[in-house]
Amino acid sequence: MKPEQVVLRLGELTLKGRNRHRFEKMVLEQVRKVLRPYPVIKYTKEFGRITLRLNGTDYETIVPLLRKVFGITSFSPVYTAELELGQMKQMALQVMHSIEQPPVTFKVNVRRANKSFPMDSQELNREIGGHVLRAFPALKVDVKRPEVELRVELREQEALIYCAVERGAGGFPIGSNGKAMLMLSGGIDSPIAGYLAMRQGLRIEAVHFHSYPFTSERSQQKVKDLAAKLSGYSGSIRLHMVPFTDVQTRIHQAYNKNLLITLLRRAMMRIAQKLAESHEAGALVTGESLGQVASQTLASMNAIGSVVHLPLIRPLICMEKQEIIDIAQSIDTFELSILPYEDCCTLFLPPSPSTNPNMKVIESIESGMPWLEEALNDAVLRTESVWIDTKQEANDPFSSFF
Ligand code: ATP
Ligand code: MG
Repeated sequence: MKPEQVVLRLGELTLKGRNRHRFEKMVLEQVRKVLRPYPVIKYTKEFGRITLRLNGTDYETIVPLLRKVFGITSFSPVYTAELELGQMKQMALQVMHSIEQPPVTFKVNVRRANKSFPMDSQELNREIGGHVLRAFPALKVDVKRPEVELRVELREQEALIYCAVERGAGGFPIGSNGKAMLMLSGGIDSPIAGYLAMRQGLRIEAVHFHSYPFTSERSQQKVKDLAAKLSGYSGSIRLHMVPFTDVQTRIHQAYNKNLLITLLRRAMMRIAQKLAESHEAGALVTGESLGQVASQTLASMNAIGSVVHLPLIRPLICMEKQEIIDIAQSIDTFELSILPYEDCCTLFLPPSPSTNPNMKVIESIESGMPWLEEALNDAVLRTESVWIDTKQEANDPFSSFF
């Protein structure tokens, strides 16, 4: 027995009126986009939900795609029966049989959108419930907190019958809250920051700083693989690869003490902001988390962040490492992130990076670097931008490494 339809429930409880309408329209667009390879699927949008008619497309094939559409809170595989009591009872039984873990309690929930059906919801509840109970002698009815809710919806042409509920990705549809530039390293944190920003409705472009040939091509591939994982939620992601070697080397030659990391980060931020502006992104997103490393104290973050005027979004700022790792595992970026990788910032690491940088000192060091602005612009000019989608995701993440 195969599901013939899928019901998608659309989320964000707080949304009303026009915003709600726009939200739902954008979820529908994204669903259509991810299901484009399956052209026979038909869509119907009602208030708060979308129904898909699968027309032979295999439900299990599209589940992983649906799970990555933000704005869907949950979805259910749906079976259909003719509008006739006997047929509905029979299908209800089959649906109950299809549950892997037999429940102890259940209830039937009939919705009669088609008012012309001769029996009312109460009668149908009793008839169908009774039929199921006779077939499952150990099963009990619990109307308040049933383990399984067997839903029967009477439509114009058919009855929809279903009980399984899969959790969706939640959040806001991609792009519904604008676009942001994600600073994507090869670490654990920044991909998660990107994921959370996307879940909040931001379309993401990503910027990565590399110090080729000091850092390897493998570490660039790793970042592309991470971007490919994230692209599963949006369809594709634009990735800007910034050659940072020259800027980095020149800063290092001019200054090699405990504020070096702060200076390098400020340079990165300035470049990221230039790219954000030229690509119409309204914010920068980083994977910073308070207290994790020397550059993530309040004083450091202020010194680094003060060079940008765009909103600086730090989704992980108050999260524990374990929470971040849990998300990384659930979205499948963790294994990639822990592969060996050289970060451009670990290249010329000073012996003791400052945790309490002084703004006046920083500004005076930078005023001794009149060439800096031009060097940053030059890095922007030499930036290579590529589109990444899930097809570029290496099947075996280790293959590009060993
Ligand atoms: P991550 O795990 O994301 O690398 P982290 O805990 O290692 O984070 P840092 O290395 O201090 O922290 O970096 C802080 C943030 O700066 C990163 O989360 C990322 O947003 C940005 N960043 C660091 N290195 C790079 C890079 N090479 N390219 C782009 N962004 C970077
Ligand atoms: Mg890092």
